[in-house]
Amino acid sequence: MLSRGGLPEVPCPGCDRRVVGLAWGDLCPECHARRAKRANRLANRISLAATLLMGLYVAFRMPTDPMARIYGAVAVLATYIIVRRIASRVAMETMK
Ligand SMILES: [Zn+2]
Repeated sequence: MLSRGGLPEVPCPGCDRRVVGLAWGDLCPECHARRAKRANRLANRISLAATLLMGLYVAFRMPTDPMARIYGAVAVLATYIIVRRIASRVAMETMK
């Protein structure tokens, strides 16, 4: 069925509500926001666990040289940011 603007009403795969202007297979804004919230919460937990492991590795395995400590701290920060981004994207793509 076409709406007044000529765009087809496409059902959302999450809630089966018909939304004007939605592409086939895309979620409606409410389902997308709900999935993003869940994905962010999951990504936060995964990245904190990875950061904890990296922090333990840096604390116990890196030399006590101050320069090595600085690089270790940068590595811990980079681990958090990178793992969070990857986990968030993977969760958004794979979550039901
Ligand atoms: Zn929906």
